Amino acid sequence: MGTGFGPAFDALLAGFFGLLFGSFLNVVIYRLPKMMERQWAQECAELTDTPQEPAEKFNLLVPRSRCSSCGHVIAWYENIPVASYLFLKGKCSVCGASYGLRYPVIEAVTGALFFFCVWRWGWSLTALAWCGFSAALLALAMIDWDTTLLPDDITLPLLWAGLIVAALQWNPAVNLSTALWGAVAGYLSLWLVYWAFKLATGKEGMGYGDFKLFAALGAWFGWPALVPIILMASVIGAVIGIALKFSSKLREGGYVPFGPFLAGAGFTAMIFGPQSILRFAGL
Ligand SMILES: [Zn+2]
Repeated sequence: MGTGFGPAFDALLAGFFGLLFGSFLNVVIYRLPKMMERQWAQECAELTDTPQEPAEKFNLLVPRSRCSSCGHVIAWYENIPVASYLFLKGKCSVCGASYGLRYPVIEAVTGALFFFCVWRWGWSLTALAWCGFSAALLALAMIDWDTTLLPDDITLPLLWAGLIVAALQWNPAVNLSTALWGAVAGYLSLWLVYWAFKLATGKEGMGYGDFKLFAALGAWFGWPALVPIILMASVIGAVIGIALKFSSKLREGGYVPFGPFLAGAGFTAMIFGPQSILRFAGL
């Protein structure tokens, strides 16, 4: 399959879709945690019978994106991935507030990931599956970094998708049995580490979202990939932890979420193959 214009064109086209999808991911990363908070607040109010005002609609599509400084509704031509940022020099066209580099960076990274998937696997269901995997993983990494939450709305579908992709044989490298036991062992191993750490120190080193994300990675890469992935995640975590310590940017309480490092290991496994991580480590 393909567009008929050759693999480079196919990959570029996928990269273009990736830019657009990255724009949507920015919305997911910003809004999904706020939607969860609103839902929790609403559930608390219902439990305590607190009268509440009807909230204005807030989901991934409604309301339109606005400038957080002046409330200016962002027009479609101000919302073209990367290009609008460069054209507007990263500023609101009305009040001049800076938008931050992370929006175009997330768009560009999503574009690069989609480009990679189609370049590597061609215009195929395998590539489609890995594009979805990449988008979900990127959103999880950013949301966890921002809020220390890994929403079930992304981790659980990612886990199911991994099992379904294996069952349909869209990913020839992993069969259903390997994927299923990958998910089981991924969840249980971090769950055990969590309880051992909690019983030994009285602290919580991870959250349940980390177990679900590791289970999802187990489903996508199969159980033999779990050790290389956790190794890679620990190395990335140590490097970033040390860097944060030296730049004294460690947040209040010193808590660094583990999800972004698991995601980083997931990307490494997707791009280089899980077993190559062991070769990097000289094992
Ligand atoms: Zn503005």
